[in-house]
Amino acid sequence: MFTRINKLQIELEKPPKPDPNGAAAVQELLGGRFGEMSTLNNYLHQSFSFREKKKLSPFYDLVASITAEEIGHVELVSTTINLLLEDAVKDGAPTAAPLEPFKDTRLTHHFLLGGPGHIVANSQAQAWTGDYVFNSGNLIIDLLHNFFLETGARLHKHRCYQMTSNSTGRTMIGYLMVRGGVHQAAYGKALEELTGVKMTQFLPLPNIDDAQIPEAKKWMEKGIHRKLYTWSQDDFKNLGAIWNGTATWADNQPLEVTPGTPAGGPVPEGRTTRPEFAPQYDPAEIFEIAQMLIKKAA
Ligand code: MN
Ligand code: MN
Repeated sequence: MFTRINKLQIELEKPPKPDPNGAAAVQELLGGRFGEMSTLNNYLHQSFSFREKKKLSPFYDLVASITAEEIGHVELVSTTINLLLEDAVKDGAPTAAPLEPFKDTRLTHHFLLGGPGHIVANSQAQAWTGDYVFNSGNLIIDLLHNFFLETGARLHKHRCYQMTSNSTGRTMIGYLMVRGGVHQAAYGKALEELTGVKMTQFLPLPNIDDAQIPEAKKWMEKGIHRKLYTWSQDDFKNLGAIWNGTATWADNQPLEVTPGTPAGGPVPEGRTTRPEFAPQYDPAEIFEIAQMLIKKAA
């Protein structure tokens, strides 16, 4: 089962100005074939159908714990999109067509369906699908798939970084590049243990060193590129049987397993405007109703 902590894995600040087309590009990292919905759901369903969980605990613990990190990545990418869309829409009466500036943006769904917010789709508004989940029941093939998935995810993050200079987008992408590198290496090391094939010698894939990206380098300087978390108080500790020793791609420093979660940062509050609501119901009325409910619950 799962518990939920009301924090983001890192602190994200609202960009200096709204960036709807930047938000559209970032959608690829949420609902694309190699986006966070895909990494989350691949590992989630592989962990559910994993057989011999106790006997194979180093491998099960690896897939199960990374699953929990990935749902936090879904949260980070979704929040980034929402921050890039915040304040794009100005308050105004429906007759003044306050959404008209967005009829020519790349993803009108952000404003027509999303209110305005993220959608579970890629940068071209194609919906994320369970067809992106690979769950073969064969441990080696699943791990090989996961290694490839993290590799593709890293490639797309690098391209998305090059498509937007937005500071909030780049902050998020820099962190996910580093974490994706850890996952890629972790699946590589798991395959090395099983097959003897030196998977981590493929690294870094793609051939762009994260240290060239300032928003990634700052996390490497804190050792975040050497760490796996268990995302649990007591469970999944046997992933340390795979994630140990030192590695050239981690500056020959020790690989570390940290029980629990990173400290994280606050969840942004978010701000609403009238055009996001259906006509007739004013946001002030809903705030008033919520305040009454909060008082009753106290
Ligand atoms: Mn991820
Ligand atoms: Mn990952």
